[in-house]
Amino acid sequence: MGWLTEWRRRRVLQKHRLDEALWREATRDLGFISNLSRGKTVSLKRLVLLFLAEKEFTGIHGLDVSDAMRVAIAAQACLPILELGLDWYSGWRGIVLYPGDFGVRRTQVDEDGVVHEWDDELAGEAMPGGPVVLSWDAAAHDPAINVVIHEFAHKLDMLNGAADGMPPLHPGMDARAWRKAFAQAYEGFCDAVERGKDTWLDPYAAEHPSEFFAVVSEAFFREAAEVRRRYPDVYDQLKLFYRQDPA
Ligand SMILES: [Zn+2]
Repeated sequence: MGWLTEWRRRRVLQKHRLDEALWREATRDLGFISNLSRGKTVSLKRLVLLFLAEKEFTGIHGLDVSDAMRVAIAAQACLPILELGLDWYSGWRGIVLYPGDFGVRRTQVDEDGVVHEWDDELAGEAMPGGPVVLSWDAAAHDPAINVVIHEFAHKLDMLNGAADGMPPLHPGMDARAWRKAFAQAYEGFCDAVERGKDTWLDPYAAEHPSEFFAVVSEAFFREAAEVRRRYPDVYDQLKLFYRQDPA
């Protein structure tokens, strides 16, 4: 982090305060944030101020992005980096909000050189080196997923160049232990999905190891005790990576 960034951040924190009523309104329906300890809430609010100063929100299709929407998204986005710092979200600036789910055109060339095209309906997307795109409707009203933590977890995963379910680990963390914990959990999960069993996590997590990491990261912050019970080794690795022990 350069001195200029540090100076700017200090100024932001000196000159700005988060309005208490606005914070309460924005986090009212987010129990995993409104129930944080006093100390963590203070740290989270500071991070949210910096996040709001450095990121840029854009509403699409006439969506008017209110302060409460900005704070609600910033609070959820900052929770995973509470002990890591805002530099983990550097290198991009934009957060694009659609009123609801949005369509994207996908193209893939298979090994025979045939081009396949299809349309996808998404609640969120994280572009490598680019913006995070979110459906406000899904962010605000879908209790089954936490699309904000999900997409920002993808951002962390992409930091080492590949969305593969393994973000850059901290010094002292064991990459083999990470791979083993996640591979075991992922295989078991895919197996259960294939056999048509009801799964605790969103079955979408079976799409790819990167999706499993994003979905289990959502659960780590929202239902930590359950993650620890079902996937103790994954929980331990997430605890080391996020440097938090929410259970
Ligand atoms: Zn995803």
